[in-house]
Amino acid sequence: MNDLSLVLKSIDNVEILLDEDLSKYSTLKLIAQGDVIIIKSKDALEKVVKALFCEKIDYRVLGFGSNQMLQEFSDAPYLKLQFPFEQEYFSTMREEYTLPASIHLSKLSSHASKFCLKGWEVFTGIPATLGGAVFMNAGTGLGEIGPLVKSVKLISKEGIFKTISPDERSFSYRKNNFAEEGDLIYEVTLVHFGKDDQVAMTIKNYLRKRNETQPLKSQTCGCVFKNSNRELPDGKLATCRAGEFIDIIGLKGFCLDEVRISPLHANFMENRGSANYSNMVRAIDSIREELSLQFGVDFDTEVKF
Ligand SMILES: Cc1cc2nc3c(=O)[nH]c(=O)nc-3n(C[C@H](O)[C@H](O)[C@H](O)COP(=O)(O)OP(=O)(O)OC[C@H]3O[C@@H](n4cnc5c(N)ncnc54)[C@H](O)[C@@H]3O)c2cc1C
Repeated sequence: MNDLSLVLKSIDNVEILLDEDLSKYSTLKLIAQGDVIIIKSKDALEKVVKALFCEKIDYRVLGFGSNQMLQEFSDAPYLKLQFPFEQEYFSTMREEYTLPASIHLSKLSSHASKFCLKGWEVFTGIPATLGGAVFMNAGTGLGEIGPLVKSVKLISKEGIFKTISPDERSFSYRKNNFAEEGDLIYEVTLVHFGKDDQVAMTIKNYLRKRNETQPLKSQTCGCVFKNSNRELPDGKLATCRAGEFIDIIGLKGFCLDEVRISPLHANFMENRGSANYSNMVRAIDSIREELSLQFGVDFDTEVKF
């Protein structure tokens, strides 16, 4: 029996998948292999995290894998939550919603559409788990998830449970400012801003727009680069949109190894079929260097390495 199976063998509600083909665990579908630990209850989560801490085994956290580049051979196991959720919970409108972090945002969008929940239109089209969305402060042109988060429950890598009540400093552009290295979010309470009959239409229109402007059928991780702010001579900040800058230098459709800049949206990179982590890193570094050379702007990546 491998070390990991030995360490976790007596814990219920846990599935240990050794040497898994990891390409199916992320939307980029990079060629990758490693161990995955699927955790199905809070009790199991506590036991797994404490056991790994005792044995000094590092781990990584995996949500839906829509913003991660998985390494070809991962030295640390991936922890993935799969807590039960009764669809019945969404049969009525509530003032607030306490949800497992593993729930997919598309379920929240459907509920928002049905009950016209103002504020929840921000989830439209983001392929994510709730935990991953909170960790990344995911958002669209319609807003970010941050203002909807009333509380976050997480477990630290030492196995200590914590409850966070976010304030205005807790979230910034595509990041949270409270989770520490190894913290794993397992439950989130969300609010909304009342009822708005326009919400269903807003969601429908925004989905259509995304379908027209993003390569949603390709293997991508969404936007690779964050937009960047640059100070103008008058002291005001101008937003430099990574996609527009890549487009200006004519790189739409450009291929490097197995990676292609999407011809539809220049901030999306597509895995053409057999790309791996190194191919992606090389492509990202080249584009970043080119942008810095041409415009003197350094773009941070949104995707997690
Ligand atoms: C086609 C496409 C379109 C996209 N459009 C958007 C968009 O419009 N707006 C946007 O913001 N993003 C977008 N993204 C990126 C992505 O969907 C978001 O960043 C999302 O929040 C990632 O969630 P996830 O569950 O997939 O997390 P993952 O990608 O699995 O993980 C992302 C990060 O969060 C951490 N994490 C995940 N779950 C947890 C948890 N439970 N506890 C602690 N840490 C955790 C991971 O360790 C990692 O660091 C898009 C991606 C794709 C493929």
